[in-house]
Amino acid sequence: MLDQKTTNELKTALEKERDLLISELETIATPDPNLKGDWDIKHSEWEENEITSEEELEGGISVNESDEDMTNKALSDRLELRLRDVNGALEKIEKGTYGTCETCGAEIPEDRLKANPAAKTDMEHVV
Ligand SMILES: [Zn+2]
Repeated sequence: MLDQKTTNELKTALEKERDLLISELETIATPDPNLKGDWDIKHSEWEENEITSEEELEGGISVNESDEDMTNKALSDRLELRLRDVNGALEKIEKGTYGTCETCGAEIPEDRLKANPAAKTDMEHVV
């Protein structure tokens, strides 16, 4: 079982990471007002032009705004996912269910939580 002190340390680490993720997300995206936890990429020049046309791909035009936006989209997706995990872990601390494997319910080793406080599973059930 995690003691209170360790739990508090991990909670502090999670809160710090959450703030960092949010400030990183804010540089490339804005929170979606309609969907909690979802972020919309700030577009540069072009609008919802998700797919680069085949011509452009073949022509080897690689550096343009849409590429920059795609990179930002990929980055924002990663940050969003991580933020979701971090928030999930913080919720579990509140509920008192923190530190157990989501797959089998076993306790997650303290070392693993210290390496990744947002870990959802033990080593055996890493997704
Ligand atoms: Zn497990």
